[in-house]
Amino acid sequence: MSRAVLSIGSNIGDSLAHLQSVVDGLRDVVEAISPVYSTAPWGGVEQQDFLNAVVVVDDPTADCTEWLRRAQALEEAADRVREQRWGPRSLDVDIVVCDDVVSTDPELTLPHPRAHLRAFVLIPWLDVEPAATLTVDGRQASVAEFLAELDSSERDGVRLVDAILIR
Ligand code: ATP
Ligand code: CA
Ligand code: CA
Repeated sequence: MSRAVLSIGSNIGDSLAHLQSVVDGLRDVVEAISPVYSTAPWGGVEQQDFLNAVVVVDDPTADCTEWLRRAQALEEAADRVREQRWGPRSLDVDIVVCDDVVSTDPELTLPHPRAHLRAFVLIPWLDVEPAATLTVDGRQASVAEFLAELDSSERDGVRLVDAILIR
């Protein structure tokens, strides 16, 4: 059994519909859905802004690997094409954390190794789980603390939009 925090993002096609497809695909196991944010691209590739959100899922029948499998199936259903690293995509579904699992497996690294550096992950995560904590390199701190450590320009690139995901 496991509970996972998923970070979802899109900047190709109908991005809101791509994010909604995750909620629809996981409907029965969705515990919480964050607001939707427009976010500046991360990683230095010149491209359109993203829409991002966080979805918390809980399923007694799923282990952490199963969340990755479901995430990749949802990406495929959205016609995700893998080209440039951190480049544009119709749908990206990352496992931010899964229970308290720590893993260095490159196929599924937990917690996600770059989540603590990304305001577009931390801000919507705090919306649905204000007391969340994260362990990075053996240091456990609140998600709010990791967010406060980011450059203000990172946080300013994350803006609430007038759209919501519907359960
Ligand atoms: P980033 O990982 O920096 O967000 P990305 O999302 O663009 O980059 P992808 O091309 O979507 O990277 O994924 C590359 C690989 O990362 C996938 O094949 C997957 O197996 C692996 N991976 C490792 N840890 C995770 C995780 N926590 N969540 C999702 N994918 C992961
Ligand atoms: Ca990603
Ligand atoms: Ca990914």
